[in-house]
Amino acid sequence: SAKKEKPGSFRWYESGMESELVQRRELESDLRQALLRNEFALHYQPVVDTTSNRLTGYEALLRWNHPTRGSVSPADFIPFAEQHGLMIEIGDWVLRTACEEASRWADELTVSVNLSPTQFCWPNLVPRITGLLESSGLPANRLELEITETAMMNDVANAKSVLEDLRALGILVAMDDFGTGYSSLSFLRTLPFTRIKIDRSFVQDLGRTKESLAIVRAVTGLCSSLGVATTAEGVETEEQRRILKREGCQQLQGYLLGRPALLPPAKDAARVMPMELESSMQLELVH
Ligand code: C2E
Ligand code: MG
Ligand code: MG
Ligand code: MG
Repeated sequence: SAKKEKPGSFRWYESGMESELVQRRELESDLRQALLRNEFALHYQPVVDTTSNRLTGYEALLRWNHPTRGSVSPADFIPFAEQHGLMIEIGDWVLRTACEEASRWADELTVSVNLSPTQFCWPNLVPRITGLLESSGLPANRLELEITETAMMNDVANAKSVLEDLRALGILVAMDDFGTGYSSLSFLRTLPFTRIKIDRSFVQDLGRTKESLAIVRAVTGLCSSLGVATTAEGVETEEQRRILKREGCQQLQGYLLGRPALLPPAKDAARVMPMELESSMQLELVH
């Protein structure tokens, strides 16, 4: 700070700081209003069974339609909501909406809901979810909660007890973005996950690098020995699908199967696919 700078660059830097601060304040107040103004929506991405090609359920993905900025990515506003203490309230809206909407789908379909680190550590999580299952009428075994390694890192003992409580209720628990954290293997050993979701970064290199194949093969093999189901994220090509099927990965999710989209609020959402699929890819729906 003692170092002298050119007046011009100094002023520019200051005004840059100020405008960033103003923007952050604006984003914070907009985010606080978003629930009241009904600007959030859930998009649903299909998850399909690899061997039968049948729809098994959908992952709920949060969308924010900002009045002037348009659609804001969850990757941008969720970390921000976490920092500003808004994630419990937003996450609660996601859970309630997902449970209510999924309760009107066909009986076989599951809904997968992402939990942020703060939500996962919230002491009221298990009673709140119990209440939401009751009020929506969604059976516990049709709700799957997706949790990343980051959310469990700080307190593994607490993570274990929360996961055990959720499992005792019959709720399914998936480790999201598997392989991108630091403790994947030890978490698999100690935490009662019912499923792991193989991160898109490994899936995308399938057919291109032998390392990605080696990792996917090791993960599916390990999970099958441990009795943990696997889902591949970010499946975009027929070749990836073929390899994942051959390697015994049970579920597929990705643009090849369908993009996240709004579902009509019909009783028979199971019949409606969020996008038109190539004819070779037509899914056999449950009903
Ligand atoms: P995620 O849970 O790993 O979700 C998968 C992301 O990959 C989604 O991005 C989805 O749109 C995208 N995706 C799916 N298939 C493909 C594909 O074939 N190719 C590519 N390139 N991408 C694909 P999205 O919707 O932008 O969400 C990003 C992340 O934000 C999610 O990653 C999740 O961590 C978080 N998120 C989304 N909704 C919620 C929510 O309701 N609560 C919380 N806590 N986090 C959420
Ligand atoms: Mg997820
Ligand atoms: Mg994921
Ligand atoms: Mg991911």
